[in-house]
Amino acid sequence: MDFVSTRGLSKKITAGEAILKGLAEDGGLYVPVKFPSLVHMNISQISSYPEMAFEVLAPYFENDKYITVNDLAEICMDAFNFNVPLIQLGDKESVLELYHGPTAAFKDFGARFLASTLEKIIEKTQKELTILVATSGDTGGAVASAFHDKAGINVKVLYPKDRVSERQKKQLTVLGGNIQAYEVDGSFDDCQKMVKDAFMDKELSQKWGLTSANSINLGRLLPQSVYYVYASHLFRSMYGVNPNIIIPSGNVGNSCAAYWAFTTGVPIESIVLAVNANKTIPNYLETGEYKPSASIHTLANAMDVGAPSNMERLFNLYGDIDVFRQFVTSYSVSDEDIKETIKKTYKETSYIICPHTACAKKVYETHYKNKPSIIVSTAHPAKFETIVEPLIGKTIPVPESINDILSKKGRFISVSTNYKDIF
Ligand SMILES: *Cc1c(COP(=O)(O)O)cnc(C)c1O
Repeated sequence: MDFVSTRGLSKKITAGEAILKGLAEDGGLYVPVKFPSLVHMNISQISSYPEMAFEVLAPYFENDKYITVNDLAEICMDAFNFNVPLIQLGDKESVLELYHGPTAAFKDFGARFLASTLEKIIEKTQKELTILVATSGDTGGAVASAFHDKAGINVKVLYPKDRVSERQKKQLTVLGGNIQAYEVDGSFDDCQKMVKDAFMDKELSQKWGLTSANSINLGRLLPQSVYYVYASHLFRSMYGVNPNIIIPSGNVGNSCAAYWAFTTGVPIESIVLAVNANKTIPNYLETGEYKPSASIHTLANAMDVGAPSNMERLFNLYGDIDVFRQFVTSYSVSDEDIKETIKKTYKETSYIICPHTACAKKVYETHYKNKPSIIVSTAHPAKFETIVEPLIGKTIPVPESINDILSKKGRFISVSTNYKDIF
């Protein structure tokens, strides 16, 4: 299948090429020229999650320049090697736990698929790559874990000194091998600027084969649509109705993937974006004027985004404001409500949720109570123990994958905010 840029000025390329490129030359994001139809997919014959992933993704990789049918089957087996449970919480109320991957957040789906795909591509091009990624939290950990020990790929992770949690820092620094962590004496914005500066330095970028692994890469977006196909079919077989899907959203990569799944014709009633105090999308729905802004710090910090980068893809899908309003619903949740919801959910159901998931749960309670719904859970609460534990008055058991790294010693290089320090 062919992919084009949202800005329309780059030539058509296949998915494999778009994944290798990251951003299109005209600065836009890659989107499919048309969406496949999954209406007639025979779910009953699919026996595992990797097989489901293969069926959903195969149309996008038809006649691909790099990725063959066999490659895709192997990529899906390699990338999705963990559980994706749909938990029943109340009557027709369920939670899709997307945090059973190695770094305990949903970003493992995208990062692992991207890493496996790039590894296959390198086998063919024989050109080594350097992944450059700036992180304020979950992204760097997922990317580092996914690319660890992948042949022909080196990863440079940049994080701001004193601004990531101890557990997050461990995830970035204990792996070693082809993963090098850099502790930047500056802010997250400084880290992002260093990445940009390095990409702008054409000579250096060529020499190192620089590639980005951030959330606008098609290789992170496509695999995220699989769990919406999977969960909505499962929900429908359990309850006989289509679910509303409520998604904790920041850069809207996760929700954009849900819209792509929806467009292919899967049993979804509606898609709802739960955001924190960063209200760019609810404000747009209300006023019809799109005004990205600086981000506000909240308890759901992985969603602290004032200018969501994947909005460009949503506008490409639903350009007109009236069409946009027809498909997109979004509500903002305050820090007070996040805390209250974590407490209340634990008290009523003994179920522990992270601050991001709490945004979706609050939207459910306020606007979708007793309607068939899937609340999307994006991270394990133990990753945010300093917020969650005081609220529930209990220590959260740490998942094995995180426990394993806590005792290991991390290694990093301290650098200034000059990008030349990392080469
Ligand atoms: C990244 C992240 C989000 C936001 O996802 P987007 O795709 O950026 O909308 C939500 N929750 C958690 C835990 C995350 O790490």
